[in-house]
Amino acid sequence: MYSKGKRVGDGFFLALSVFLSQANIEQHHGGPFGAVIVEFEDGLDAHGKGLGKPRVIGVGTNHVVPHHDPCAHTEIEALRDAAKRQDFSDVRGCVLYTSCECCPMCLSVANGSGISRIVSVNTRGQAEAIGFSDQLQYDLFRLPPHQHMTWMNRLEEGKRQDLLDKLSEHGAMVLDHKGDVFAYGDVDTSRDPTGIASINAVRKAVKKHADHQKQKGNQEPVFCSPDGWTLVSRDIPHPSDLILADWARMLRHRDHANPENPAFDGKTPDPLRILHVTMTYEQLPVMDRHGCVHVHQDAHVTYQQPTLPDALRAVLTQHSRGRVVSSAAQEVFQAWKDGTREGKQVRY
Ligand SMILES: [Zn+2]
Repeated sequence: MYSKGKRVGDGFFLALSVFLSQANIEQHHGGPFGAVIVEFEDGLDAHGKGLGKPRVIGVGTNHVVPHHDPCAHTEIEALRDAAKRQDFSDVRGCVLYTSCECCPMCLSVANGSGISRIVSVNTRGQAEAIGFSDQLQYDLFRLPPHQHMTWMNRLEEGKRQDLLDKLSEHGAMVLDHKGDVFAYGDVDTSRDPTGIASINAVRKAVKKHADHQKQKGNQEPVFCSPDGWTLVSRDIPHPSDLILADWARMLRHRDHANPENPAFDGKTPDPLRILHVTMTYEQLPVMDRHGCVHVHQDAHVTYQQPTLPDALRAVLTQHSRGRVVSSAAQEVFQAWKDGTREGKQVRY
């Protein structure tokens, strides 16, 4: 079926991503999104099209709610799956097929992981129409980093030393609303492309918060932080973590009359919610099959590009033009919308 060096079409893998998105809502795991990562035996041609026998090396669906993980988006889950299966996180030369255009967090991680091409079906406009808007997150990149976060040296001496003592040997930590350490984060990227200190700190904190809520008998889904938490990072957090902090609702001001409804959140991020010690940018290193570490896209470049979101697209990004797969993807979105209206789906 597949000949050596012969070009392979995208249709089957796009259909697979849409099938996964449908399965995800039928199983009530989360949003209507699916993704697969494919490696081709003879690499890619000049247009990024696969050549020779394909191999699916990772699959993912949205698991934000069941994993209590605000960054368990479809594409990141697929990248984590590929890293676990292969025992290394570098995916250079692979194609990411996804049922919907990536959000900026997933794009940052896909770029950092070395993905060579992304092909998606539904657009972010279509996602917005069913309640999944990324506009706020794209807008975050239009402002310079110091408008979202504060260099520790700008704090008064006593407060600065207290935070440095708490951070001690760790790469990042999350403080609760009283200023006590709630979780630490350290680097472990060998089998997880997102295993950087700042992301690990936020993920651990939200999971711990979810466990506490469960112990108290609270049955509500928990996938973000309570109000007033702070992320302290040794380095300027990687762009993917800036967006993660927003998905976790750490950057926003909540409306006290509607604390659980993100639609009422203040749109101006609070720069004191993310503090960094050094002026160095946190990078997203990945490990290749030989154990060598690479940084595919410098975090500083991602932040500094004035033309975002295009700068996030260092990787070749395309939309499917297949009519059959597009209408199937739209049907899944419609099914999600109908299910939400009938109260069958988890609300984000
Ligand atoms: Zn995403």
